[in-house]
Amino acid sequence: MERIGFIGLGIMGKPMAMNLIKAGYSLTVYDIRPEPVKEVVAAGARPGTSSKDVASQSDVVITMLPNTQDVKDAVLGPNGVIEGARAGQILVDMSSIAPLAAKQIAAELQKKGVEMLDAPVSGGEPKAKDATLSIMVGGKKEVFDRVERILRCMGSSVVLVGEIGSGNITKLANQIIVALNIAAMSEAMVLATKAGVDPEKVFQAIRGGLAGSAVLDAKAPMVLDGNFKPGFRIALHIKDLANALETAHQIGVPVPLTSVVMEVMQALKIDGKAMDDHGGIVQFYEKLAKVEVRRKKAK
Ligand code: NAD
Repeated sequence: MERIGFIGLGIMGKPMAMNLIKAGYSLTVYDIRPEPVKEVVAAGARPGTSSKDVASQSDVVITMLPNTQDVKDAVLGPNGVIEGARAGQILVDMSSIAPLAAKQIAAELQKKGVEMLDAPVSGGEPKAKDATLSIMVGGKKEVFDRVERILRCMGSSVVLVGEIGSGNITKLANQIIVALNIAAMSEAMVLATKAGVDPEKVFQAIRGGLAGSAVLDAKAPMVLDGNFKPGFRIALHIKDLANALETAHQIGVPVPLTSVVMEVMQALKIDGKAMDDHGGIVQFYEKLAKVEVRRKKAK
């Protein structure tokens, strides 16, 4: 079995690393924060001292970091993966980053003979824990074939969509659909609530119809409970929509609805809600309409 290095043990990375340990892989792990490293080491991983150290002890390195710059730092920066890596090794970056940056990082690694796949995920913390993530992969087929078994220990859907960068293009498409869905749900639920209709009944009545969705099923109950604990932070979704807007404009695609939801998220950020779950988008509408979408208390 390949020796795996895992860098970035946050909300997503920690449960993903745990699932690899459960599947019997030997892991060396690193995070700039010591607490999650301790937890994963207690479950059987070895601690690495840097991204370079992790790379030098592994055959396949996985990164799960917040954004483009963090991946560049951990992979190409001082004491980064590239310094410890050798020809034939594979980096699988599972973070959601700018597609162009994924291509640039891959080109730098290629100079050393190191292969790369961009393999961002969808599904959030619950699916990271259950190993049922959707994983969208960009890169060479022969490299994908070498790591598919490893990816299947973290996800129930693993699809090679195209060349390097395609994984993150697919993820941007995913994030546009999710953001617009949450905004649509929020707008509709605020309307129903202010009209005096019980929002929980509205949810139950429509979830089996055409308006039903994975987003509605995941986020409506959180909204009804007023629970905006992340999950997926508004700050991270702002990062994804910034990448979507930038990429769309670079290739000549207007994305009018994405830009509206981006401004909604910017307003929430200014209102101190950047660290809330993206289900917290409803708070923007609630503030405008002066009503809260919450479960009716049993009398
Ligand atoms: P997070 O902020 O919880 O975790 C990131 C981890 O990376 C942190 O533990 C941080 O300390 C570590 N880190 C940052 N820079 C580092 C560096 N240079 N070297 C080593 N460690 C470093 O983020 P997350 O929610 O786990 O998300 C990770 C990625 O997955 C993001 O790109 C996000 O957009 C994507 N994603 C998240 C979710 C979700 O629901 N949280 C869902 C799908 C995709």
